[in-house]
Amino acid sequence: MRCLAFDIGGTKIATALVEQNQISARKQIATPQAEGAEAMHHALGELIQAYQGQFDYVAVASTGIINNGVLTALNPKNLGGLAEFPLKQSLARHTDKPIGLLNDAQAATCAEYQHEDPQAVPNFAFITVSTGVGGGIILNGKLLTEPHGVAGHFGHSLADPNGAICGCGRQGCVEAVASGRAIEAVSSQWENPCDPKTVFERFRQGDPQAVGLVEKSAKAIANLIADLRISLDLQKVVIGGSVGLAGGYLPLVQQFLNAMPTFYHCELAPAQFGQDAGLIGTAYWTKQQL
Ligand SMILES: [Zn+2]
Repeated sequence: MRCLAFDIGGTKIATALVEQNQISARKQIATPQAEGAEAMHHALGELIQAYQGQFDYVAVASTGIINNGVLTALNPKNLGGLAEFPLKQSLARHTDKPIGLLNDAQAATCAEYQHEDPQAVPNFAFITVSTGVGGGIILNGKLLTEPHGVAGHFGHSLADPNGAICGCGRQGCVEAVASGRAIEAVSSQWENPCDPKTVFERFRQGDPQAVGLVEKSAKAIANLIADLRISLDLQKVVIGGSVGLAGGYLPLVQQFLNAMPTFYHCELAPAQFGQDAGLIGTAYWTKQQL
C-alpha cells in the first residue's frame, strides 16, 4: 500500500510517498496561509496531481486541530486565512482514494509508538517541546483522536496559575512556561538578550540565569509527565522537539521526575523520528484505519 502523505504546517507543506516507513519523492511548498481557502484548495490539487497514479491512499498530518475533517485550532486566528478550512472535503475533490487526517503531533505519536509492544506498553504519550508544546496519547494501544481531535493538547494544561498568559487565552499553560517561545519571551528581555539556542549553550556552560530558565521548563514538563502518568496509567513517554531534544534537557526532566514519589515514574525516551515523524506517523495510522 503506497501512501501519499502530507505534512501541513503554518509555513510549509511537505508531501512524500510513504511505503513501510520509507519516504520518497519528497516535495515542499510554502503554505498559502495568507491567501486563504481557495489558494489552499488549489495548492492541494496541484500536489495531488503531481503524484497521480502513484498512491493507494492519502494521509495528512496537520498543524492545529482536525475536527471531523475540518482544520481548526484552539486559537483559530493563528491559522489566518485557513481557519475552519474543510481539509478532507478539499482533498476529496481531487482524489477518490481513502483519506486519513491527524494533527501533526498525534501523527508523530503514532510514528514513535509503532514499534512498541502494545502488551507491555498499552498506554503511551509523546510530548513535543518546541516553539509550542503538543503531543498525543495512546490508550490501550490506540491513538486517542475522536470525537473532536483535541486529545494530546496537554501543552494547554496548567503549569503555573500565576504564569504568563498563553496564546490560547488561558493563564499559566505548560506552553506558556516550557516552550521555546516562552523561553525566548524571558531571554529576549535579559540584560544580555539571546535566543533559545543560545540559552541552551549558556545552560550547558552552567550560566545560572540560563540554568534557572531551562530548569523551569524541564520542571513543567516533568510535572506534566507525572500528571499524565497518574491520570492515564502511562508506561512510557517519548519526548521530541527542538527544546525537548536539546542537549542536557531530557536528563533534567528525568531528574525532576526521579525526585517525585515512585508512582509518578515512568520510562522516558528521546524521539527517534525527526522531521519526517508526521509523514510516517499519519501514513502508518491511516493504513490501520483502512
Ligand atoms: Zn494555552
